[in-house]
Amino acid sequence: MRTMIAVHDQPALRALARRQRVAVSELRTAEKRLYKHRLPVAEVLEALPEGTREAWMGEVDWQPLVLAQRRDSQLDGASKLAFRTTDGATIESVMLRFHTGRSSVCLSTQVGCAADCAFCATGRLGLRRNLTAGEIVDQVLQVARLFRTEGRVLRNLVFMGMGEPLHNEEALHEAVEALRDPERFNFADRFIVVSTVGVPAAMVRFARRFPGVNLALSLHSAREEVRRWLVPTTRRHSLADLRAALVEVAGLHGGRTVMIEYLLFDGLTDTEADLVALGEFVAGIPVHLNLIPFNPVAGTESLGLRSTPQARREAFGAALKRAGLKVTLRRSLGADIDGACGQLAQREGAERRS
Ligand code: SF4
Repeated sequence: MRTMIAVHDQPALRALARRQRVAVSELRTAEKRLYKHRLPVAEVLEALPEGTREAWMGEVDWQPLVLAQRRDSQLDGASKLAFRTTDGATIESVMLRFHTGRSSVCLSTQVGCAADCAFCATGRLGLRRNLTAGEIVDQVLQVARLFRTEGRVLRNLVFMGMGEPLHNEEALHEAVEALRDPERFNFADRFIVVSTVGVPAAMVRFARRFPGVNLALSLHSAREEVRRWLVPTTRRHSLADLRAALVEVAGLHGGRTVMIEYLLFDGLTDTEADLVALGEFVAGIPVHLNLIPFNPVAGTESLGLRSTPQARREAFGAALKRAGLKVTLRRSLGADIDGACGQLAQREGAERRS
C-alpha cells in the first residue's frame, strides 16, 4: 500500500507541489485555509489548481481520523470525542469550555497505554500502538474546526488524554513542532501542556527542545511504594531520579514553575505522611501543585480507590499553602461523560464489540 503524505509534513508537501507544478503561493493559501481559518478539507482544496485537486486528495492524508462519537456533558462545558483511526482503533479527545471563554482540548498520543495506572481505564486497554504525529495534529485540527462553528477559538492544548506522551517521543516532538509553527497553527508555548507520569530522561530531552512549553508531572504520590502501585511503569526509576529530572527541567524552564498533578485518593494519597513526603519531594523546586479529585472508574472499586471528600481535599490544599506552596484545587470536568482518560474509548470499544 502506498504511504500517503501526512498533511503537516511540509517538506513532502513542497516536493509534491513541485512535482505537480503547484505554485508555492497556492500551497500557502491552502495551508492558511487549513491552519489559520480552520476550514473543511473541501474548501482547503479549492485553493489548489482545479486539475490537481484529485491528485492531492489521493496523495495527501488530509484527515487521518474519523469522528465516531460525541458526548456533551450536561454538567459543564466538556465534550468527549471518540475518533476512529484508519486501522479501526478508537482514541479520544476532550473539548473543554471554560466560563472565562477559554477553549481547550485534551489530546491523546497513543492507542491505549503501557503505563498501567491503577486508576485509569486506558491503562486496562494496554498499549496497542503509538499515534502518528499526523493523528495527533488531526485531533487539534478537527477540534479547532468544531470550536470555530461555536464562535470559539481553541487556545490551549493539553496532552493528557490516552497514552503517555513521552512513551511516543518522536511523534510528540514532531506534532509539537508543527503546532508551534508560526506559519501553521501558531499555538503559543505557554498554552501547551504535556502531561507525563514521569519518564526522567525524556522529560529533560523535551524541556531542552521546547523550553517554553509546559511539562506537567502526574506525581499522585511522593511515597515510593504507593506511587509504584498507582503508576506501575514508574518502577523503572526511583523518586530520587524523578526529582533530579524535575530540578533539571525547572532549570531549563528558566525558573518557571513546573506543574504537578496530584490525584487525591481517600486514605492513600491524602494522609499526614503524604503531606510530609510531598513537601520534601518539591522542596526547593518551583512547582505549582494541582490537586485533583478522582473520578471513579469502573473496576477501581475492588481496588479500594475512593475520592477524598471535599472538606479533606480543602484541608490538604490549605496545609500545603501554609507550607508556602502554590496550590490549586481543581475540579474534574466531564464527570457525566466519563471524563477521566480512556473511559469513552473503552465504552465505545465495548459497544462495537457487543
Ligand atoms: S493515566 Fe495516563 S499514563 Fe496512566 S495509564 Fe492512563 S493514559 Fe496511561
